[in-house]
Amino acid sequence: MSSRVSLPLMVNEPGTGHAPVAPFLRLSALWIQVTGTWCNLECTHCINSSGPASPWLKPLAPEIARNAIREADELGVKEIYFTGGEPFLHGEILALLAEALEVAPTTVLTNGTLIDPAMADRLAGLARDAAYSLEIRVSLDDVDPEQNDRVRGRGAWAKAVQAIERLHARGLLPIVTATEISNTDATPGLYERFRDFLRSLGIERPRVKIMPVFALGRQAGQAGGDGERLSGASLEGFDTALLQCSDTRVVADGGVYACPILAGLAGARRS
Ligand code: SF4
Repeated sequence: MSSRVSLPLMVNEPGTGHAPVAPFLRLSALWIQVTGTWCNLECTHCINSSGPASPWLKPLAPEIARNAIREADELGVKEIYFTGGEPFLHGEILALLAEALEVAPTTVLTNGTLIDPAMADRLAGLARDAAYSLEIRVSLDDVDPEQNDRVRGRGAWAKAVQAIERLHARGLLPIVTATEISNTDATPGLYERFRDFLRSLGIERPRVKIMPVFALGRQAGQAGGDGERLSGASLEGFDTALLQCSDTRVVADGGVYACPILAGLAGARRS
């Protein structure tokens, strides 16, 4: 793969097969799938089947991520996101975060298990010195350890909660990201349960993001049937400028892709 990644701004590329076509209007958000599908956990609902062994999507070489940040800056990017896999497994993650923070507000999506006191100190230092804001989203699927670890693996809850407390203690306000996977019966109260739990930790301004479970990756087929596929007809009358792929690109192993969920899939590759 070339170390030069080209972001195809203002190019409306044809769809693949019968897939709907959405125009690419501008680059607002750059996602960097920095560790590919390499993760130290192996969650049952992982949308890209990440895990510790033989990631099907390889981690990015640092120079690929750096070039993408530079080019995105030239194109006026407004937000940068780091995801994986688990971004804190990448040996250059702190240096890459520092470079991204010179360009735009930057968010890391993490399972929190690798944020020990030293890492929390370094992240707080980065946030303090940065031109733009640093957001850290920590995944936690239930306030109950057993329910969480049933889908995320033994010990994941305790490490994620420690990370949340460490970040909060250093003045960072982590966003706790929960899926509805272990909460189907209690979904109406899910946000409130997290809010109250975080307050019980002494976090006076809880930030919680609730995500649906997608029938993708390890959950593929769990929802029953083959699932409905989008077609051009599905989008008739819909303002495609509202679609994430109209102003977002993802750099991941193999090139630039239209959407974070589709990173690594040949049909979603834009360059
Ligand atoms: S959901 Fe997140 S933490 Fe879990 S295996 Fe996938 S990338 Fe790793």
